Amino acid sequence: MPTLIKNGRVIDPASRTDRVADVLIEDGKIAGVGQDLSAAGAEVFDAAGLIVAPGFIDMHVHLREPGFEHAETIESGSRAAAAGGFTSVCCMPNTKPVNDSATVTSYIVERARNKAVVNVFPIGAITKGSAGEELAAIGAMKAAGAVAISDDGKPVMNARVMRRAMEFARSYDLPIIQHCEDLNLSAGGDMHEGAASVRWGLRGIPAASEDVMVARDLLLAQLTGARYHVAHISTRNSVAMVAQAQKLGLPVTCEATPHHFALSDERMPAYDSNYKMKPPLRSACDATAVMDGLASGTIGAIATDHAPHPGSEKMQEFERCPFGIIGFETAIALAIEDLVAPAKITLTRLVELFTTGPEAVMRLGRGTLAPGAPGDVTIFGTEIEWTYDVNQSHSRSRNSPFHGRTFRGGPVATVVNGEFIWKRV
Ligand SMILES: [Zn+2]
Repeated sequence: MPTLIKNGRVIDPASRTDRVADVLIEDGKIAGVGQDLSAAGAEVFDAAGLIVAPGFIDMHVHLREPGFEHAETIESGSRAAAAGGFTSVCCMPNTKPVNDSATVTSYIVERARNKAVVNVFPIGAITKGSAGEELAAIGAMKAAGAVAISDDGKPVMNARVMRRAMEFARSYDLPIIQHCEDLNLSAGGDMHEGAASVRWGLRGIPAASEDVMVARDLLLAQLTGARYHVAHISTRNSVAMVAQAQKLGLPVTCEATPHHFALSDERMPAYDSNYKMKPPLRSACDATAVMDGLASGTIGAIATDHAPHPGSEKMQEFERCPFGIIGFETAIALAIEDLVAPAKITLTRLVELFTTGPEAVMRLGRGTLAPGAPGDVTIFGTEIEWTYDVNQSHSRSRNSPFHGRTFRGGPVATVVNGEFIWKRV
């Protein structure tokens, strides 16, 4: 059955489109964007007053399967992604076992094919077991469907190993994504090192622990020519260094999470584990630098770093509980409220940050409404008011700092391969 989305404001940066139009999807592919389209027997959705965009891509998520199904599964995570307006997600390899071989990559691809409501693209590990020593089976993982390599959560500390990994990534034409953290500098830290950590007596994670790794890796990227991507960038110095590398013409990119521009260490309740993540919430000054980077183009993508942890683990004392928060369902709303509403970025830029930006790094063949493209569409509104109740989340986990917050703006419906997989009720 064809799908016809009528009367929305179609914003498709890839084809420089921004006008009120209809979008027709047939046989799972975009059939056309234009005025007064019709198709016999089509499912019609009236998008008047709403934005209609190419399906949003979240290039940094944790689906926890295999191995941690009590926290999330490919199925539950994909439903949470759909409820956040995402049609494609790229999942990090820190599962159990780690996705460091074609066997695990194939397992994820197969589970996603049978269970997921959105498109799932696995990211393979850089090193075996993400232990930072021996390179993983990069070529075999690529052949099995891996779209990038990363040891996310476990930075590659050994510069020699990282250099070799970049050389491999380059020869396989894969992006290499680093969680930038010098573990010696951050050791024992629970939150950003600043006035708040001192006040609350918590051990700090200095901004420099991110910056020194970014600096080292940018030099290695220059040496190797690899397509290098900084995950969840969070400090002003790191943003400045990436901007400088881009100016030199290096194929270097980075992403930022909604929480790193929407929150800061001074804007979190003391000892609340729903505000504990890595990198930690930085200073207000760093959050401003992240917003400026998203506006200027230095930061090309917004990614959630959706990191589910079950309540039993997040309910421990602050120092003991794991790092990470869930993020799918609040991402668009935070981007609208904190970036678009205060006029820091335009709506077109917002759509770029969720479509062409991540597509440029991951090369999934998505992120556009061009005829023939996959029939993936994200429909969202800037005026709708809604309250986030984490207990209604599609995720298996509840660790969000945004529970109970009323938002203006957010996802309204999600279409994958021409089928509505989620609608706001
Ligand atoms: Zn990470």
